[in-house]
Amino acid sequence: MQPAAPLVAAIEAGGTKFVVAVGSGPDDIKTLTRVETTEPSRTLREVMQVIAAACRKYGPIQAIGVGSFGPIDLHPESATYGYITTTPKPGWQHTALLAPLHSRFQVPLGFDTDVNAAAIGEMLWGAGQNLDPLVYITVGTGVGGGVIVGQQPLHGLLHPEIGHLMVPAPSTPGVIVPECYCPFHKSCLEGFVSGAAIAARWGIRGEMMPADHPAWEEVAETLAYGLINIILTLSPKRIIMGGGVMKQVGLLESVRSHTVRLLNGYINASAITQDIHSYIVAPGLGDRSGICGALALGINAMREAQGASQ
Ligand code: ZN
Repeated sequence: MQPAAPLVAAIEAGGTKFVVAVGSGPDDIKTLTRVETTEPSRTLREVMQVIAAACRKYGPIQAIGVGSFGPIDLHPESATYGYITTTPKPGWQHTALLAPLHSRFQVPLGFDTDVNAAAIGEMLWGAGQNLDPLVYITVGTGVGGGVIVGQQPLHGLLHPEIGHLMVPAPSTPGVIVPECYCPFHKSCLEGFVSGAAIAARWGIRGEMMPADHPAWEEVAETLAYGLINIILTLSPKRIIMGGGVMKQVGLLESVRSHTVRLLNGYINASAITQDIHSYIVAPGLGDRSGICGALALGINAMREAQGASQ
């Protein structure tokens, strides 16, 4: 009989909920729990209770992987490593995420953005396998993107903030609130196409809109402006688009056709000119990209610690 694979905990820290899992891999998730995002100390306490309960039931964990909304500090030498930093989310600015987990569980920790985690999940087990560079974009309450280059998540100066790419302001007639919804920028992607921005612009939530609502054409074209900037800058082999807004029927297809139109034949690659359906795709892991990626961050942290101790 094979020994049981070591268990790790995974946390997908989001602005509306934290998803917590314990398992040894994407096909062996023992427990999956949602904790509402309220204020930091309460949310983290509840998350730690979920992990502790799973440890009592299934055995000790060897590491924890955290994929978090941000911006976050990813530089291990920094005094605020493991913090959420300048987020517009009230109450969460300058919040230490890793320190409470470390003091409670005393295990190695892996840490990255929620979208880099999702990109890792898709690279390992989803729609991004053997496709590098790879970009994962989520369009939900907010907009974010993770980037894989050389099989590693791209960090750099901070980390990619694809949701805040500048795009032309759409001017569809009938909009109630035409201004960009982002508190930082006057014309950015998130400010026009996030779930929150759509609801503000049109006075109706996206889920309530009919498929022929003019908002969807605007969302598709605005997203396509973001995508062409990504394609022209990073030259990814594939772009994966997840998040609640992308579940709108027909939206992904409309994003593909606007992207091809806006590129206007300039990128003469068959992936775009002939096979756009395989180039801009839905996540292979469905809604589990982020939590599977967080699991991968935990597994990586465990292996690094094992390597360091040998
Ligand atoms: Zn912005």
